[in-house]
Amino acid sequence: LVKIANVNKHYGSLHVLKNINLDVKRGEVVVVIGPSGSGKSTLCRTINRLETIDEGEITIDGNPLPKEGKALAKLRADVGMVFQSFNLFAHKSVLQNVTLGPMKVRGKSSAAAKERAMELLKRVGVDNQAEKLPAQLSGGQQQRVAIARALAMSPKVMLFDEPTSALDPEMINEVLDTMADLARQGMTMIVVTHEMGFARRAADRVVFMADGQIVEQNTPEEFFSNPQSERARDFLSKIL
Ligand code: ATP
Ligand code: MG
Repeated sequence: LVKIANVNKHYGSLHVLKNINLDVKRGEVVVVIGPSGSGKSTLCRTINRLETIDEGEITIDGNPLPKEGKALAKLRADVGMVFQSFNLFAHKSVLQNVTLGPMKVRGKSSAAAKERAMELLKRVGVDNQAEKLPAQLSGGQQQRVAIARALAMSPKVMLFDEPTSALDPEMINEVLDTMADLARQGMTMIVVTHEMGFARRAADRVVFMADGQIVEQNTPEEFFSNPQSERARDFLSKIL
C-alpha cells in the first residue's frame, strides 16, 4: 500500500534520510523505533508530504504523492496523521473538529459527517465530550479525538508520531489501547513510538532506524529477543 523506494533527504549538510526502502502492506502495522534524531519523524512526514524528498519515490496504492492543490489535500486525508501534540482546532468543539475535514475535503453533508463523527467518538470512548472544547478534555481524551478526526477522513493508512509521549502516564494506555483496537480492525499503520509494550503486542514488524538509515527490521518477537546489529542491541539495552 505504501512504497518508499530509495528515498534520500537532506537538511542543508545533514543527510537525514539515507536511501530508505520500506514497503507497508495493506493491514500491516509497522512500528518505527530508534534513537532521538535518527529521522523517524522526518520519514513519517515525507509520507503525507509535510516534508519533500530529494531523491527516490513514495507511492500510495501505486500513485506517486501529489505536489499541490486538491490532490494534496486528498492525500492528507488518505494518510491520517496523529502527532505528539494533539493539534486540535482550539476554538472548535470536539464534534466540529471531527466533522470539518469530511465536509470540506470529502464533500460530506453536515448530517452525514455528524453521524459518522459520533460513531467514531464513541469508538474511541469520548462521545460524551462532543460539545466541549479541546482544552476542557484531558490529554488522553484529546489524543483520542485526534485519532477520531483522522479516521473520519476514511484514511488508507494512519501515521502516528509519538502519540503518547506528551501524555501523563495514566493516560498513555487509553491511547495505546485505542491504537491496538484500530490495528486489530485491520487499519494499515505506521507508528513511531518509544512504547515497546505496544510494539510487542500490536506490531507486525519493527523497523529500527539509526542515523537516517533503516538498520534492521524484523517481527517484534525476533527483534526484541535477537537483535542483529550492535546499534539495535545498544538501543535496547538503554530502554528496556
Ligand atoms: P526524536 O526521537 O527526537 O523525535 P527523530 O528520529 O524523530 O527524533 P527527526 O525529527 O526526524 O528525528 O530529525 C532527524 C534529524 O533532522 C535531527 O538531527 C534533526 O535535528 C534534524 N531536523 C529535523 N527537522 C529539521 C528541520 N526542519 N531543519 C533542519 N534540521 C531538521
Ligand atoms: Mg521525532
